Amino acid sequence: MAYDFDLFVIGAGSGGVRAARFAAGFGAKVAVAESRYLGGTCVNVGCVPKKLLVYGAHVADELEQAAGFGWTLEEGHFDWGTLIANKNREIERLNGIYRNLLVNSGVTLLQGHARITGANEVEVEGQRYTAATILIATGGWPQVPDIPGKELAITSNEAFYLKALPRRVLVVGGGYIAVEFAGIFQGLGAATTLLYRGDLFLRGFDGSVRTHLKEELEKRGKDLQFNADIQRIDKLDDGSLKATLKDGRELVADCIFYATGRRPMLDNLGLENTGVELDPRGFIRVDEQFQTTEPSILAIGDVIGRVQLTPVALAEGMAVARRLFKPEQYRPVDYQNIPTAVFSQPPIGTVGLTEEQALAAGHKVQIFESRFRAMKLTLTDIQEKTLMKLVVDAETDKVLGCHMVGPDAGEIIQGLGIALKAGATKQQFDETIGVHPTAAEEFVTMRSVTR
Ligand code: FAD
Ligand code: NDP
Repeated sequence: MAYDFDLFVIGAGSGGVRAARFAAGFGAKVAVAESRYLGGTCVNVGCVPKKLLVYGAHVADELEQAAGFGWTLEEGHFDWGTLIANKNREIERLNGIYRNLLVNSGVTLLQGHARITGANEVEVEGQRYTAATILIATGGWPQVPDIPGKELAITSNEAFYLKALPRRVLVVGGGYIAVEFAGIFQGLGAATTLLYRGDLFLRGFDGSVRTHLKEELEKRGKDLQFNADIQRIDKLDDGSLKATLKDGRELVADCIFYATGRRPMLDNLGLENTGVELDPRGFIRVDEQFQTTEPSILAIGDVIGRVQLTPVALAEGMAVARRLFKPEQYRPVDYQNIPTAVFSQPPIGTVGLTEEQALAAGHKVQIFESRFRAMKLTLTDIQEKTLMKLVVDAETDKVLGCHMVGPDAGEIIQGLGIALKAGATKQQFDETIGVHPTAAEEFVTMRSVTR
């Protein structure tokens, strides 16, 4: 049967755009449907605007450090409206770039909600299209627990468009988004409290990293409340919000920001018209080649709930395009040693196994750990410490994990990601000449085993 398209992609986010562009480049006839915004979560309400706000918040640190370098500055003033307007302008520019990327590579761009009507059929704005393969790349959506007053809370989606910076913010959650936004709100001047239901935030990260970040945030005066969970939210007469915690305490704020994970975006997608099955967590079930339980339908990115990061969605999109239309170039996605950063203040950079994971996997480990005050701070009164840590297999000398909390951690860890992918040993780290004077050189000069 002749189909309208070789590939019909639903969702023009990180994964969908990558798959569509490369498939078209390989000669396939491709359509992409997008209901909301070109570039998806990352460009519009994720990585990009978040990083811009992090930069904005970081200016406060630079101003604080300026006096030590001889600069006398007049009283500064921050204007949220200007930051958001400038951020919006940049996002619009990126939306245009994404449009050009798709159109110039020959992809048919359809604006509107896509609903699957059969194993090889999709409906957009009342029009039906057939395709040999359908790729679901619809991403995720913030998930707020079902508590009384949940509609009074906001999520990251709304935070990027707030009319004004709230004076008092409660941030709920202990993952990437909660930690990053607590830093943004606090850095820009809001009185911020982070509430996390467990003993210590960032579950799954290395234990030293979690403890170190907690200590550094507390040094900066951040109000971190662990073993704290909201039971209900009420609006008070003056418009502020009252959070009643499960332990009976009451906290009042102007904004309650939830970052308690993201669900797959499957709303009105028409999966009931297909044989696509979900996994026990509700994400789309796929095999190692991203095929769902309906052979003509594939899925990638946040909607499959593997690793919810843009570079992973990009790699999955690339793998799908190659497998379908350039099989001689196909390589499976490598989920080992994915470098990642949390853009907290100070930021975290991490790649490979945590100490806990290495031990659980049966490795005999040597830990190299270093804590030091960054050179830049020596002319200031700021007592922040940087943490660097290597997890090494004591038998093979292979470096299993690199972890850092400190300025530029994300930038530094990217290069170490290549070293780990290449299987570098501790001896090779030691034989690498440092770049002096940098913080990064500490990763090649840690000589004594900490434990
Ligand atoms: P998305 O980018 O979400 O794209 C899905 C697209 O599908 C959307 O545009 C949506 O409108 C569209 N869509 C959905 N349903 C339909 C439908 N039925 N019809 C048509 N279109 C539809 N990752 C990082 O690596 N680094 C970061 O710093 C980072 N920061 C983040 C900060 C925040 C606040 C958030 C929320 C996420 C962040 N992420 C970050 C994660 C990253 O944004 C996601 O992993 C990535 O966007 C996933 O890409 P995707 O292609 O799976 O989905
Ligand atoms: P995460 O899954 O990272 O964290 C969710 C947090 O919410 C956890 O601390 C979790 O606690 C807590 N939580 C979950 N359910 C509840 C509940 N019912 N009540 C109270 N707390 C709850 O999700 P995020 O929303 O922070 O981010 C989603 C994903 O987006 C991230 O996992 C990451 O993959 C990606 N992202 C990446 C970024 C980056 O690369 N810098 C930045 C932002 C997002 P517990 O640990 O106890 O389960």
